[in-house]
Amino acid sequence: MSAHDQIRAMLDELMGTGRDGENNKYKVKFDDPRVCKSFLLGCCPHDILSSTRMDLGECPKIHDLALRADYEQATKGKDYYYDIDAMEHLQSFIAECDRKTELAKRRLKETQEELSEEANQKAEIIHQLGEQIGTKLAKAETVGAEGHVNESLKLMEEVEELKKQKGQAEIEYRNSMPASSYQQQKLRVCEVCSAYLGIHDNDRRLADHFGGKLHLGFITIREKLEDLKKSVAERRAQREKEREERRKREQEKIGDREKEKRKSRSPSRNHRSSRSHSRDRRKRSRSRSRRSCKRSRSRSHSRRSGSRSKRSRSRSRSRYSR
Ligand SMILES: [Zn+2]
Ligand SMILES: [Zn+2]
Repeated sequence: MSAHDQIRAMLDELMGTGRDGENNKYKVKFDDPRVCKSFLLGCCPHDILSSTRMDLGECPKIHDLALRADYEQATKGKDYYYDIDAMEHLQSFIAECDRKTELAKRRLKETQEELSEEANQKAEIIHQLGEQIGTKLAKAETVGAEGHVNESLKLMEEVEELKKQKGQAEIEYRNSMPASSYQQQKLRVCEVCSAYLGIHDNDRRLADHFGGKLHLGFITIREKLEDLKKSVAERRAQREKEREERRKREQEKIGDREKEKRKSRSPSRNHRSSRSHSRDRRKRSRSRSRRSCKRSRSRSHSRRSGSRSKRSRSRSRSRYSR
């Protein structure tokens, strides 16, 4: 990267796409589906693992620092839920890596000489110490290069102590099996980055692995995934809580409305009674007209039941008696 490009990238990162009134080179906004959301959140594996043994090549989606700056600005005022997309992206990436790790472990089991349970336990101790030595050694080199000499020396002392422990563990491991078996390099698969590690790896190789870009990159991705899972779960719980509260409020509102209705019904009793009055009137007038009709029917000797017909019968009887 030339000095000019470097300054440009820095300005992009600081100011976003609208820096000098021009659009970014991709002519898209940060919320375009072609933009890599994991990149916006700073966790695209294509970036993190670039120029390692597991380099994934260029990301199929757009990576642009100016768009990330735009996103960071926009996300202050609005939630875009990109962490869900990023989480799903990393989840599938890690799941694929873990699948490869399991496959490599199975292959080793098939090809390597089976050790006794005791020897396996001792080998495991050596591997754990090897990881601590490699990590601390790499750290000591990094902080030393940054000029933190005392911290570096302190870490080197810890490395020396761990090396003594490892030496002891190696003796115990050797004693647990025939010499010919001990000579063989016993491999295992790194659970973090799925690279192969040997039980006889020297300190240099351990430091290169545990302090290397590949292994550290995988640690970054795995930690980022855990963070995303946590924040997504928290926000989902928060949203659920808000929904629940909204539902409760709605119900209360409905309850209030019901109460309101009941209250407004009682003072209008007069109103209702007037309505029922008119209904009664209507009924009465209807029955009157019915009666008149019945009367005429009973005159024609039609058989009827009920008081009315009785009345009409009596009437008609009276007529006969008349
Ligand atoms: Zn990407
Ligand atoms: Zn590793």
